[in-house]
Amino acid sequence: MKSTTTGDPALIRRINTGIALDAVLKGEPLSRAAISAGTGLNKATVSSLVQDLLDRGLLTETGQGASSGGRKPVMLEFRASAGCAIGIDVGATYLMGVRADLRGEVLAELRRPMEAAGGRSVMEQLIGFIEELLPKQPPQPYGVVGIGIGLPGIVDGAGSLLLAPHMDWEPTEVARRLEERFGVPVHADNEANFGAQGERIFGAAAGIRHLVYVSAGMGIGTGLVLDGQLYRGASGFSGELGHLSIQFDGPACRCGNRGCWERFASEQAALESAAAIGCGSLEELVQLAEQGHSEALRIWDEIGSYLGIGIATIINVFNPEAVLIGSRLSMAARWLEPAVQREVQARALPFHRRQARVRFAELGDGSAVRGAAWQAAEGFLARVKAGEA
Ligand SMILES: [Zn+2]
Repeated sequence: MKSTTTGDPALIRRINTGIALDAVLKGEPLSRAAISAGTGLNKATVSSLVQDLLDRGLLTETGQGASSGGRKPVMLEFRASAGCAIGIDVGATYLMGVRADLRGEVLAELRRPMEAAGGRSVMEQLIGFIEELLPKQPPQPYGVVGIGIGLPGIVDGAGSLLLAPHMDWEPTEVARRLEERFGVPVHADNEANFGAQGERIFGAAAGIRHLVYVSAGMGIGTGLVLDGQLYRGASGFSGELGHLSIQFDGPACRCGNRGCWERFASEQAALESAAAIGCGSLEELVQLAEQGHSEALRIWDEIGSYLGIGIATIINVFNPEAVLIGSRLSMAARWLEPAVQREVQARALPFHRRQARVRFAELGDGSAVRGAAWQAAEGFLARVKAGEA
């Protein structure tokens, strides 16, 4: 068996290719000389690696940069159009998806309500939805490089859904089945984890190392970024803060416990209250609030208070720099925000409260789908750097 030692020229070239590509991704547009200066690789090596990356369609030469005296250098940029990635957010009541370039920038977007139970299975709907998002003309040379898919429940390390409490969906090997169907790598994870990533890369959490992303949809899930890393826990199941008991004898929750936070502060809780005023959707409840309907305003204030009560505990436990509230309830940010801030001010420990900013997600209900597409593109770049793509 051939061993890979530090002297293996092919291995060294792979590593150096990754270093050169990374330099362009972080600093583009960049000249060959700047790559050499920034990485410590000699100019001849950089020239050869860059040629290789140009031939593979991963870099492109753009206009000329500023000269420091002699001939103006040719600048290099990452070619984000060399492939595309699919990002999906499966909600309890909807499917949302984007097709993105290799930087994760959105090229196309699609939304669809989930069909009611008794129709096509969730998996059938999901496959049809992904097919609609695939490009008619695959980008060259890499086509679709991967699919990221956020799921509303407990997901294991292999991308299998173990439990989706708000849906009629049995445990399913989601990643494996989609890989078989589409023939590309599939990254399946809890949607709140992708939401946290989406806000870090494209939204309100750029540069934030201590972040709790609260996905407030039918249930509540959280994505925890601790010290710059997504925290997954021993089995990958971290972040189920929706099942924090906030009332010991409260209403029964689908998880088996009583009085869970999400029974008071989620879309489900808002819809239960809204039913009493003949209102059947969040969109309608927002409309009523816009018209100054006093009961609708009271419902939003109550949901906001409960959100704030849970977030105060999150702030005390994790000492985050930011808590971002995303997913479906973010559409009511205007009415929820005052109550959220009021409760956080009243309840969180003063030392913890001082640094913690509580805001709504910048990407609204699109944080998870953007994070999922980014993860799929990122997985491709990791394979490129490892010499596997
Ligand atoms: Zn629960």
